[in-house]
Amino acid sequence: MKITGKHIAEVLEQWAPLALQENYDNSGWLVGNPQTELTGVLCTLDCTEEVLEEAKAKGCNLVVAHHPIWFGGKKRLGSHYTDRVITKAIQWGIGLYACHTNADAVETGVNAKILEKLGLKNGRILSPKYENLQQLTTFVPVQHADEVRQALFDAGAGWVGNYSHASFNMEGVGTFKGEEGSSPTIGSIGHLVRVQEVKIEVLIPKWKQREILAALHRVHPYEEVAYFLTSLQNAHQQTGMGMIGELDEAMGWEEWMKEVKKVFNVPVVRHTQPLGSVRTIAVCGGSGSFLLGDAVGAGADVFLTADFKYHEFFEADGKIVIADIGHYETEQFTSEIFCDLIQEKFPNFAVLKSTTRTNPVNYS
Ligand SMILES: [Zn+2]
Repeated sequence: MKITGKHIAEVLEQWAPLALQENYDNSGWLVGNPQTELTGVLCTLDCTEEVLEEAKAKGCNLVVAHHPIWFGGKKRLGSHYTDRVITKAIQWGIGLYACHTNADAVETGVNAKILEKLGLKNGRILSPKYENLQQLTTFVPVQHADEVRQALFDAGAGWVGNYSHASFNMEGVGTFKGEEGSSPTIGSIGHLVRVQEVKIEVLIPKWKQREILAALHRVHPYEEVAYFLTSLQNAHQQTGMGMIGELDEAMGWEEWMKEVKKVFNVPVVRHTQPLGSVRTIAVCGGSGSFLLGDAVGAGADVFLTADFKYHEFFEADGKIVIADIGHYETEQFTSEIFCDLIQEKFPNFAVLKSTTRTNPVNYS
């Protein structure tokens, strides 16, 4: 089978839809033609010139990175390091694809990987996303209700937490009269029809709206499908920023620090005053200081993240321990997730994890 960039993008976007990326982000295709047949994929945290050289040497013509090499609009390509990466990628025929804040937002993403590496259980989203849920309401003749409901579930509707097939159904009477130009499934033009119908209500994630509506239109028996979508204020518990989980047993601070340094291969950790033993841990890969209040509110003993500024450390204020282990360190396992996802889908295809250390920060 010919594997193209489009296949790889589909695997990643099925897992972490692009619609989940933040406004400032630039996830998705950056360089190259998604239709190009791939010779191999190299997964990395950052795409640098060294990573491109590694890709070339290993026969890979697509680099999948967590961080997009650029975010805003670009007016020219000069000698800036990001411009050199773009130019080289084009010259060498290497495609660039980024899977960034959408990979942060899913509950099997960047932060789940950190929880896994730390041996934390009962992982859940620290700050769930709002504005991602909609209610779909439709009206179906009673005898077609099961089929329509099932099609909606199959397309991804009806999830509430860990429950699938969630819907609310109410029987009633629907009326309509087909006017000129119509072709009614029940009754005939010019006659008022009363039909025993079921009103079906399901929750849908916003990014699956198109697929779910397509499924509804495919199976619904009416010429004109009556439905409405309502935006909800509810948080979507399966997507959002940061995660929190618990150790099986509490650990002493010193012992836990030793574990963190070993797992993340970090020589030094910047942290606030230790507050005793560690059990509940909030994490956020990359710059997570904006989630400190959520971590405190969720009752975490420690907040493990990166990029805290001096004054922000004071905000711990005896309520939590901030442990800043470095941006690269928190996200270094992200490329593992990409590799595993692609490999699972295409087991006989060359998917490699980059061995280039792209961390611009050194410790002496
Ligand atoms: Zn990052």
